[in-house]
Amino acid sequence: MAVFLGIDVGTSGTKTLVVQEDGAILASASAEYPLSSPKPGWSEQNPADWWEAVQNSVRKAVKSAKIKPADVGAIGLTGQMHGSVFLDKQNQVIRPAILWNDQRTAEECAEIEKRAGGRSKLIELVANPALTGFTAPKVLWLRKNEPKNYDRTAHLLLPKDYVRFCLTGEFATDVSDASGTLLLDVRKRQWCKPLLEKLDLKAGILPTVFESEEVTGKLTDAAAKALGLAKGIPVVAGGGDQAAGAVGNGVVKRGIISATLGTSGVVFAHSDEVQIDPQGRVHTFCHAVRDKWHVMGVVLSAGGSLQWYRNQLAEAEVTAAKRLKTDPYSLITEQASEAPTGCEGLFFLPYLTGERTPHADPNARGAWIGLSLRHGRAHLIRSVMEGATYAMRDCLEIVNELKIPIREIRVSGGGARSEFWRQMQADIYGRRVMTINASEGPAYGAALLAAAGAGAYKSVVEACSAAISLTGSTDPLAEAKRVYGKSYPVFQRLYRTLKPDFEEIARLVKEI
Ligand code: ADP
Repeated sequence: MAVFLGIDVGTSGTKTLVVQEDGAILASASAEYPLSSPKPGWSEQNPADWWEAVQNSVRKAVKSAKIKPADVGAIGLTGQMHGSVFLDKQNQVIRPAILWNDQRTAEECAEIEKRAGGRSKLIELVANPALTGFTAPKVLWLRKNEPKNYDRTAHLLLPKDYVRFCLTGEFATDVSDASGTLLLDVRKRQWCKPLLEKLDLKAGILPTVFESEEVTGKLTDAAAKALGLAKGIPVVAGGGDQAAGAVGNGVVKRGIISATLGTSGVVFAHSDEVQIDPQGRVHTFCHAVRDKWHVMGVVLSAGGSLQWYRNQLAEAEVTAAKRLKTDPYSLITEQASEAPTGCEGLFFLPYLTGERTPHADPNARGAWIGLSLRHGRAHLIRSVMEGATYAMRDCLEIVNELKIPIREIRVSGGGARSEFWRQMQADIYGRRVMTINASEGPAYGAALLAAAGAGAYKSVVEACSAAISLTGSTDPLAEAKRVYGKSYPVFQRLYRTLKPDFEEIARLVKEI
């Protein structure tokens, strides 16, 4: 049976999975690298570190899978989105890559909106508003702040596509990752010439765009030696980490949505048609499935809010968990279950790091509102979990507003490990939630894309059907659904009420 490699060039490290044709995982290996922040708000990495980590993790994974190099049928790539790698005419890296979480480009975002003819016009052209993390503003930043480096730039690549260049010598990307550059006509799945002209950017620096399962090139002799593999192995286009992660969760059909409650929370909806939110509250990107799209909402501190509680206020539980050799989260959530549904009027706003969806507000802050003498620790914890879950529901509401059908919600991430939180999700979403057998995320999706590209399956959808199955379901409880149905609008209103105060607080903090 052929095997496929899925390589995920993440922010903290690279993970390689060796996956058998039937979807079974034979081995996994990873290698880490540093992230540098030369100035406040800056975030950079050295592309050479990615390539080294790819070599190390592939060698380790292939060794522990005990396969022969000739068994590898194809390689799929995924990775952190939006990062920009600048290469010169000799294909040398010009400066460290600027990453997705870099915040230096506020001015350039404003400039892009202006040049595009306003925010709505920009959303019409590329389906999304300008966000500091996206790639296009980074290119404008380079042009303004490091003009010599900009003049030398002959190629602009995304992180996983730099690795592709090392593997195959080709300059290529895929539609899903390209969507996050802000330079793709997401509707037509090709570079957006009108915007490139308005921004006065050279189209020649952009890589060729492929559908995710298409083969973009083959492993060169030198790369094969570096990885300990056979030359000529096809490399498929792959996808950005969110789209590839969705493939890894089987979110590849109309009606299937994933709700991933990790440190951040992501609601990802497959869509057969391109659905654009005129207000730009959710991202609309091409999916890693041919001629399909996805809509995505991001909650910045979802599980992160409970993590904050654990780190700041749960010393007793953390110590007890050490003694009992158990997970502190299981002790914390056990306490939460002692508080009643809806926490007797206590609400938590989970905006500890501002919020992306739906508010796009860096000034938003966390808050407990509605405290009374009745409230104890159990209420505090439960309200944090409820607040994070209401924020996930905010994303689902927009998906619903865009008339994307929600037939099946697949839950994953740390929050789905807890039965209590799964039930809370079902109750707050007011819908059944499902769990699946796969938990390896983007790297697994990349391997499935490779399997489809190599012809082991007729399509990505078929690869997912063969490899991924449902393992459980949780239905909402009628009474809890009723209580949350009444509480959720109050949660929504609290942000709107507090917004001017959050702005005032941000001003205040700057002043003092
Ligand atoms: P990451 O998003 O960092 O990759 P995870 O998907 O594991 O990590 O999510 C981590 C978050 O999941 C934690 O911050 C916590 O809120 C939540 N979590 C993890 N384990 C549990 C658990 N057993 N019960 C409830 N919540 C959990």
